[in-house]
Amino acid sequence: MSNLVLSSPLKGWIAPLEETPDAVFAGRMLGDGLAIDPTGSVLHAPCDAVVLTVHRARHAVTLRAANGAEILMHLGLDTVALAGAGFEVLVGEGQSVRAGEPLIAFDLDFLAQNVRSLITPIVVTNLDAFRIVRRQQDRAAEVGDELMALSPIAAETAESAAGASTVAEAGGEIVRRVVVPLVHGLHARPAARIVETVRAFTAEVALVAGERRASARSPVGVMALAVRHGDSLSITASGPDAEAALAAVAELIEGGMGEGGPVAAHVPTPSPAPSSVEAGPVTLPRDGVLKGVLAAPGLAIGKAVRLSSSEITVRELGDNPGHEHTALTQALETVRARLEAAAARSDKARQAILNAHLAFLDDPELSAVARALIDQGKSAGFAWRGAVGGYVDALRGLGDARLAERVDDLIDLERQVLRALIGEEESAAALPAGAILLADELLPSQLMGVDPGLVAGFCTARGGPTSHVAILAAAMGIPALVAVGGAVLTVADGTALILDADSGQLRVAPDAPALEAAQTRLAQRQERKARAKASAHQSCVTLDGQRIAVFGNVGALGDAVAAAANGAEGCGLLRTEFLFLERDTPPDEDEQARQYQAIASALDGKPLIIRTLDVGGDKAAPYLPIPAEENPALGLRGVRVSLWRPHLLKTQIRAILRARPVGQCRIMVPMIASLDELRAVRAVLDEAKRELGVTERVELGVMIETPAAAVTADLLAAEADFLSIGTNDLTQYVLAMDRGNPELAARIDALHPAVLRMIAQTCAGAAKHQRWVGVCGGAASDLAAVPILLGLGVTELSATAAILPEVKALVRALDLAACRTLAARALELTSSEAVRDAAQSFLAGV
Ligand code: PEP
Ligand code: MG
Repeated sequence: MSNLVLSSPLKGWIAPLEETPDAVFAGRMLGDGLAIDPTGSVLHAPCDAVVLTVHRARHAVTLRAANGAEILMHLGLDTVALAGAGFEVLVGEGQSVRAGEPLIAFDLDFLAQNVRSLITPIVVTNLDAFRIVRRQQDRAAEVGDELMALSPIAAETAESAAGASTVAEAGGEIVRRVVVPLVHGLHARPAARIVETVRAFTAEVALVAGERRASARSPVGVMALAVRHGDSLSITASGPDAEAALAAVAELIEGGMGEGGPVAAHVPTPSPAPSSVEAGPVTLPRDGVLKGVLAAPGLAIGKAVRLSSSEITVRELGDNPGHEHTALTQALETVRARLEAAAARSDKARQAILNAHLAFLDDPELSAVARALIDQGKSAGFAWRGAVGGYVDALRGLGDARLAERVDDLIDLERQVLRALIGEEESAAALPAGAILLADELLPSQLMGVDPGLVAGFCTARGGPTSHVAILAAAMGIPALVAVGGAVLTVADGTALILDADSGQLRVAPDAPALEAAQTRLAQRQERKARAKASAHQSCVTLDGQRIAVFGNVGALGDAVAAAANGAEGCGLLRTEFLFLERDTPPDEDEQARQYQAIASALDGKPLIIRTLDVGGDKAAPYLPIPAEENPALGLRGVRVSLWRPHLLKTQIRAILRARPVGQCRIMVPMIASLDELRAVRAVLDEAKRELGVTERVELGVMIETPAAAVTADLLAAEADFLSIGTNDLTQYVLAMDRGNPELAARIDALHPAVLRMIAQTCAGAAKHQRWVGVCGGAASDLAAVPILLGLGVTELSATAAILPEVKALVRALDLAACRTLAARALELTSSEAVRDAAQSFLAGV
C-alpha cells in the first residue's frame, strides 16, 4: 500500500469533521476525514478510483482507491429524504474514474432550501487500514486542491473480498462477505442476535454495508445499516479470537436465523414497505373524519387530550468533561434500574418492550458518540440528545417503515435519560376519564404511565401498526389508530371524538346524530358483552337442540386460564410452536411434558387438543436450519418439518403422552396434504405409546389447511379421529394470497365462497365416516362467520379467549335449520363482500 493524497472533490469551505451538525459523522462513526460546505454544484473524484456504491437516493457515493482506501462522500445532511430529487448521477457502480472526473451534479439552490445542511462529509471508512496524516482545513478550496493525505497502517493490501463468502486479511483484520438471506433483512431482532453472538468473543467485529459501517456490538448501529434481503455485506474482525467470532457471525447471518428466504441474483431487492409513518392531511377535512391505520381494534367515544412530550431543554456546554461523564453514567444507571424493576413486574408484552429499551441503553455506539461529544466540551444532556438524534435521523431517513417504527423507542429512551439527568421522576399524566389521547407520536413509556381506566383510546399523527406502542395498546385493550396525519394535532383539547379503530376512522366534533348512533353502538356492544360474560359457563346448544362444543385457542398457560375463565369447554388448538420459538434450542421432553401437564391441569380435565410443532413459513425457529426457500409458505412447514426431523416429533409425542390423565390430551397434525403424512405420524405415535407402555386410546386428528386436505377429507376421515379446519391457512392457500401481506389484508377473507365450498366439502367427507369437524382458525372468532360455519356442518369452534362468551351466546341464539339455509345461499354467492352482507342481515334478525 502506498500513501495517497486526496484532492478536494468540491469547491467550497473545508471544515473539521467534528463541525458537521450530525452526531454520526461528527462522532466519526462512519470514518475519519473532513467536511466541505460547498459553493460549487458538482462532486468530483478526489483520486483515481473505482465507484463502489452509489446510494439509491443519489446523494452519496463510495469510491475505492487503487491502494484500497475507501472514501465515502455524502452530499448534505438528511439529503436521503429527497429520494434523489436535485441530484444527477454521472457514473455507475463498478466504473473506474480519474481524479477530478465529475461524479454527481446537484442543484445547490434546491438543496439549500430543502435540507438541513449542505455540509458534505468526505470520510475514509476503512480506518483499520488507513490513517489520515495531513489535513487541509478552515480554508477555501477549489476542486483539485489538496484535501488530505492518507497513509496505510499495515504493509498488506486491504483488499476487500470480492466474491461471496471469501476471507481476506486486511492488516490483522479478516473480512468475509456474506449475502443476507433473511426475508426482512437485519431488523431489530436479528441485530440483537448478532450483538448477543459477538458478546462471547473479545474480537472487534464490524459489519460493513456499502458506505455504512457498524460495530457488531451495537444493535442500533446494525439496524441503521438498513441491510435488506439479498444485500451483501462484509463482516470484519480483528483481535485474538477474530476467526471464531467472524465464523460465528457469518454462520448466524447465512443460516437465516429462521427468517430465511430466497437469495438469487435475479431477485430484485424488495422496495421498502409502504411507509405508514408518512403523515396524512395536516388540516382537518370538512367532514371532520380523519383516516388512519388500525393499531388496536375497538370503538371509543371520548374527549380529546393532546399529549405533547414536554420539551426538555439542555445546555450545550458542560461544566467539565469529568463531571459530565459521571452525570451521564449515573443517569444511565438510574434509567437501567427503573427499566429492570418495571420489567420484573410486567407481563410479557411489556417485558419485550422494556428489554428492547435496555438493549438500546447498553448500545456501545450510542454511548461512544455521547462520550465523544462530552470530551469535546458538551454537557451530558446535549451529548446524549446528539447521540440519539443522529440515529433517529438515520433510521427515519432509511425509507424503511419497519425501522422507522423503532424511532419511538429511541426517542423514549432519550427522554428518560434526560429526565434522569435533571433528577425528574417519571410521573403518570393526570387525565380526565374517557380521554382519547392525540399525539404526534406516543412513546411506550408514556402509554405505560397512564391509567388504562381513564384512557378510552389514542390516535397518533405518525407511527406504524407494528410499533411497540401499538402492541401495547392491543394488550391493554385500548382502541388506537396511527399515521392519522398532522391534522390530528390541530384538534383542540376537550373536543368530542368518536374513534372507530376497526374502520380506521377518527370523527372529530361529531354532530348529535352521529354521536348518538355511536353511543348506541357502544352501549349495545358493552351490554352484549356483559350479558354474554354472565352466561359464559352455560352449555352451548342451538335453539333446535344441536350441541356445539366451544373451545379456546391457547398459546401458553396464561391463555388456558383466560379461556377457562371465559367458559371454554376445552382447548381446540394449543399452538405448541410458541414453546419452541424465540429460543436457541428446542425444549426437551421433560420441559414439554411439564408445560403440557400445566395446561391440561388448568383445563381441569376438559379436552386439550395439542397441535404438533407448526414451524416454517411465517413461523421461524432459529435452531432448525430450514434451507433458504424461494417460497417459504409452500415449503418445509407444519407436518413436513416434523417428518423431516422425526426425532423432534417423537420427543413431542412422548411428552404429550406423559400428561395425565391419559386421553385428556389429543394430538392434531398441521398442514396435512396427504394421507401418507397422517400414517407416518400415527406410526410415530404407536411407537411412542409402546415405549411408554400407554395402552389407552389417544385421539389423533388432522388440520384441514390445504386445498388438498379439504378435497380428500373423506380419505383422511377414514383414518383420522377428527378434522379441524385452520381457516387462516386454508384461506391463504385457496385464494393464493399471502396471509401476512398487508396489501391483501382486506381481501383475504375466509368468507370467500371458494373457502366456504372447501369447508362444505370437508364436512361432507368427514360425515361419511362419522367424524366431527371443527374450526380453529380465525373464522371461529368471527361472529359473522359462526352461523355459516354451523350451517355447513361444523360442530366445534375453537376461538380466542376474549370472544368466547359472545360466541357461546350467539350459538345459543341460533336455529340450525336457518343456518343451513344461510350457508347454502352463501355457497352460491360470488364474493366475500356479498357473503358478509348476507351474514350481517342474518345476524340482525337473530
Ligand atoms: C390456521 O391456519 O387457521 C391455524 C389455526 O393455524 P395457524 O394460524 O397457527 O397457522
Ligand atoms: Mg395454520
